[in-house]
Amino acid sequence: MNFVCPKCREPLFVSDGGTAKCKNNHSYDRARQGYYNLLLTSVGGTHGDNLEMVEARRDFLDTGAYLPLAKRISLLLRKYARGPRVLDVGCGEGYYTDIILAENPALSVSAFDISRDAVKHAAKRNKGLALAVAGAYDMPVADGSFDVVLNMFSPLVPAEVHRALDEGGIFIMAVPGEEHLFALKSATYKTPYKNELSDSALDGFSLLHTERLTYELRLDEPEKIRTLFMMTPYAYRTRKEDRERVLSLKELATEVDFVIFVYKKA
Ligand SMILES: [Zn+2]
Repeated sequence: MNFVCPKCREPLFVSDGGTAKCKNNHSYDRARQGYYNLLLTSVGGTHGDNLEMVEARRDFLDTGAYLPLAKRISLLLRKYARGPRVLDVGCGEGYYTDIILAENPALSVSAFDISRDAVKHAAKRNKGLALAVAGAYDMPVADGSFDVVLNMFSPLVPAEVHRALDEGGIFIMAVPGEEHLFALKSATYKTPYKNELSDSALDGFSLLHTERLTYELRLDEPEKIRTLFMMTPYAYRTRKEDRERVLSLKELATEVDFVIFVYKKA
């Protein structure tokens, strides 16, 4: 496994029984589903997306609505990666991680998310992933231990990404574009706002490539609209009457707009 001990940062080795241990004898049991909890116990409570959001995202992504993005990321990874060690930061329920490994089976893919519910689902999706519950601000990985870091819509901590990458390592990031789901927002809010794109410059990286992927998504069943709505942040920020209005729609056509960046560690 390509994770380190969150307490002392020494490498972790997996014993026959599945327990991961460092040389200082800190040990982490493997959960039944096959992941490790590497969040320190001082970080109490539940974190990240809750089960309802995780399941809505799984159901929505399983319709294939964002498959073109997953395919495109797989292709960019094949094109730019100079080595097999991939880290998916904030992997959620593992939809993209799973497809990337399936399309590039020679890769060694590690992934983590701060939501335990999300990681459980990722473990069910693909047994070939090295999975942990962990946070992006203090990643349990050694310096320079990955050839590629991936960030699909997850909070970005550039210094940690930089630290995890080997010399010349590649960082691939996808973010929502300005028009992303605009019709869904328009159906929800009286004054919808477009997404703001932040500056593409990242300290310590050079930008190799950027592209925009847009297409129209036709949701022809109320259930599809519901799962899409429930996986967005709007689900929890919306007044009841606005929420009911969007959830009563029979169909919806909305823009999908992603921006993909490929960086190289300078
Ligand atoms: Zn340790």
